[in-house]
Amino acid sequence: MSLLVQKYGGTSVADPQRIRHVARRVARTRRAGNDVIVVVSAMGKSTDDLISLAHQVNHHPPAREMDMLLTAGERISMALLAMALHREGTSALSLTGSQAGILTDAAHGEAKITEIRGTRVRDGLQDGKVVIVAGFQGVDPASKEVTTLGRGGSDATAVALASAHRADICEIYTDVNGIYTADPRVVSGARKLDEVSFDEMLELAAGGAGVLMARSVEVGRRFGVPIHVRSSFAEDEGTWVKERTMEEAIIRGVAHDTSEAKVTIRGVPDRPGVAAALFETLADARVNVDMIVQNVGEDGSTDISFTVPQSHADAASRATDPLVEKLGAHGFAVDSEIAKVSLVGAGMKSSPGVAARVFRALANARINIEMISTSPIRISCVVRRECVEPAVRALHAEFDPPVITEEVGADA
Ligand code: ADP
Ligand code: ASP
Ligand code: MG
Repeated sequence: MSLLVQKYGGTSVADPQRIRHVARRVARTRRAGNDVIVVVSAMGKSTDDLISLAHQVNHHPPAREMDMLLTAGERISMALLAMALHREGTSALSLTGSQAGILTDAAHGEAKITEIRGTRVRDGLQDGKVVIVAGFQGVDPASKEVTTLGRGGSDATAVALASAHRADICEIYTDVNGIYTADPRVVSGARKLDEVSFDEMLELAAGGAGVLMARSVEVGRRFGVPIHVRSSFAEDEGTWVKERTMEEAIIRGVAHDTSEAKVTIRGVPDRPGVAAALFETLADARVNVDMIVQNVGEDGSTDISFTVPQSHADAASRATDPLVEKLGAHGFAVDSEIAKVSLVGAGMKSSPGVAARVFRALANARINIEMISTSPIRISCVVRRECVEPAVRALHAEFDPPVITEEVGADA
């Protein structure tokens, strides 16, 4: 007998029919003799709807109340799925994140899981029940406040529960058949991957491939949880995320991210301590900084640009504004019309010329590169927002050309 964690995303539980479909799938897994912990997301786009409701009553809703509101979404799905399972003759118990012992830090809206206390989930399983846990939420044990884990956080709930309960597999059920070489909604010829390494998936997810939340991949890598990403609408094998893959691909895929903004501080004096002062201030304001570029000009001053999540752009502005005068800089600007495109592959570290091909492919598509950053297995470029989809397609075509099985019209 195995213990499986199955996570069903928003599309998979979007309406009553789909919830019943998920219930039949879970009931089948249970009848086959497995113990099952199910993690659910909020139905369809209901998290977006709740966020929009909040902003209609207050442009700056308090983070605590936001978490009270958003956790309701997953709570609806978990109870409905439990009811649907009872109808299938499978006994089930739904639990909120807090009831399932998911303890977090105090950071409303982006809390990190610090510990999982497994008693209630274990008891439920021992009673022969399918245990359904509301994704994306936990509780700060110090304040007893309910928290959420950030967008896509149900993936983190699932992988963390799989690790804490030593599940054999963590299955992530979603609306695509697995992880593709690029977002299949952007590149129609994207190929489904059979497997991808934790390191590569982490770079893809951090680069914006929303099919898995980056933090869930981090947890999976740290605790060695085998993750199987697959469709809830089909029986096909999906993609396995694991420590090592059979083959080391030079390029595994292309990811893109439109959720960041670029902040530029112009005319900063070129002297020691300036970057330290700036990024210390941003760190104190809890701003997540991604890419950083500094250009030293002829006149002894520099421009520093960095990217932050759009949701941190206001905090970044508030932190940067007083520094401009203090450092003697010329001014600063926030640009939200940017996007990032990233090429990922574990084999690129030992293959010269990949960066040159990236830049040439973008140049041929007449796309200007505004910032560049690299890791041993990733090359990322910031481009104008309206260029991002052409950029993804250009890089995908450059590194993953469609297989030509027949030379059409060669003799014509
Ligand atoms: P869920 O609600 O199931 O969590 P998400 O919308 O969070 O689903 O993630 C699935 C979506 O991720 C897909 O519909 C797809 O558009 C997007 N996506 C982005 N990059 C990729 C990729 N490389 N492979 C597969 N899907 C991707
Ligand atoms: N419902 C949350 C969101 O939309 C969490 C999740 O689906 O993973 O981000
Ligand atoms: Mg998701």
